[in-house]
Amino acid sequence: MSTRPPTAGASRPRAARRPILVLGLDGATFEVIDRLSPTGRLPNLTAWRAAGRSCPLLSTRPPMSFPAWSTFMSGLGPGRHGIFDFTQKVPGAYRIEFANATHRSGASLFARANGAGSPILCLGMPATFPPEPVDGLLVSGFDSPVSTGTDASSASDPVLYREIADRVGPWMAPDLDEAAHDDGWHERAAGRLLARIDRKTAFALEALRALRDRGKPPELAVVVFSESDTVCHHFWRDHDPNSPRHDPSASAVRRDAVSAVYERLDAACGEIREAFGEDALCVVASDHGAGGAAKRVVHLAARLAECGLLSRSGGRNGGGFLGFDALARATRDTALRVLPPRVAQHIFRRARFAAARLESAARFGGIDWSRTAAFSEEVNTQPGVWLNVRGREADGCVAADDYERVRDDVIAALREWTLPGGAPVVARARRREEVYDGPHVDRAPDVVVELALDDGYGLSLVGTPWSDPDVASVRTLGDDELAGGRGRGMNGTHRQEGIWIATGPAADSLEIPSPMNLEHVTPTLLRALGIDASTDDTERATTRDRVDYTDDEEHLVADRLRALGYLE
Ligand SMILES: [Zn+2]
Repeated sequence: MSTRPPTAGASRPRAARRPILVLGLDGATFEVIDRLSPTGRLPNLTAWRAAGRSCPLLSTRPPMSFPAWSTFMSGLGPGRHGIFDFTQKVPGAYRIEFANATHRSGASLFARANGAGSPILCLGMPATFPPEPVDGLLVSGFDSPVSTGTDASSASDPVLYREIADRVGPWMAPDLDEAAHDDGWHERAAGRLLARIDRKTAFALEALRALRDRGKPPELAVVVFSESDTVCHHFWRDHDPNSPRHDPSASAVRRDAVSAVYERLDAACGEIREAFGEDALCVVASDHGAGGAAKRVVHLAARLAECGLLSRSGGRNGGGFLGFDALARATRDTALRVLPPRVAQHIFRRARFAAARLESAARFGGIDWSRTAAFSEEVNTQPGVWLNVRGREADGCVAADDYERVRDDVIAALREWTLPGGAPVVARARRREEVYDGPHVDRAPDVVVELALDDGYGLSLVGTPWSDPDVASVRTLGDDELAGGRGRGMNGTHRQEGIWIATGPAADSLEIPSPMNLEHVTPTLLRALGIDASTDDTERATTRDRVDYTDDEEHLVADRLRALGYLE
């Protein structure tokens, strides 16, 4: 129990706190920073590391933005906050739904800072939509279901948001169709990522000014840039000459894109820190790291089928020429690829084809549930296997008494799964309760899978192409497939190890655990603000009433995730 009465901080006059600025760089890695620092292209980050303290910051499992930022802002692991991925399997059904901030348990860092009387600013953090009411300003991240980038509905204070946007433009604007990779796309995209960083920097500077004008200078400001993540997904192979997906004919713009984005982010960090005040504690942190992708993709459902754990209805094609899943995929893909995005959205709305329903059919269609003991959503964002348990799943066939035995069979099937040459496909396959604890462990798949690296490069888990009668569980991409895209993964993937850099006068007195992971961030920041950091109160807090996305909102979120390559 906290010894401090819960409401004391809010009303009691108190000494001014030393403010904290957090610069969030999604998917940032020391691998790039270490390579660029000696070239002089990262003057701020290099100097801050030298003057302050830095260490690897370990992500959640899986190392993905939704669970990772949720842990970052709550101090709780996924089993306790309940967010495991962009999507969540619906209990008892072969369906998924899109996760949002109201599905999270536990009070946020922002609510706790507010509760102690500190105004906050938070810009661009994923998994914060719908925005929670705050004292200050919170603008949600790229997953906000708004069609024009971020508009006022993704802000906790729409009036203040509009005031800022009127002066410097919106926080985010849709300037990059990440799905359509035609000739010249990469060259255009590299420039647009830099422009996005500039836009967000201008917005952040104006937001700081506007809050000060209102007599609410934020004591905690968190500004998250997603460009560091996006650039690694699309340009890692160009930046890394050793990547098995490297294209030696890449243009100079492509080869330099990762470095150029880091360089621009370094400048943005410098400008925001200067405006916030150099005597403040300044932290640069990521939600996960990044690295290159291997030439091989793997199909988890095909592996389960090879081992007799999963059966397709009507043979491997799922009912012949056009099973329901094939139809669902075809409908979705046609609409998304052939039609202009606005028209596709319009047709989706008219047809009332909810994104989650289509996505569910694509993931779970064509399976003979009566002969399937285990199945997978086959998403790279949350590799895992569900058991088809009788009484739990709609058409479950595994008896409760057989649960552990079948789970052992699945784990054995995954551990024995190898690449041509004999290297393992799976680094770890574990029971979910070995990975997580807390009240939401049952939202995770029964077996949590971590894919191995193939010679230092990440394998990509993609949906099994059942239409191929000879489909195998491992596939080596052809030379024309190495950039990535549907069925090919992205050419850069996530890593467990992200970054933590703390600088400023208070950096030396921070208690930094070793190894440091995302669960340590909220308590570390609260302590630095002088706020009680016990997690007891956080977990008890039932944060918000649960709100689910409407069909239209789901489409917008699904489109953005698909554009980013997170949905197939
Ligand atoms: Zn990412």
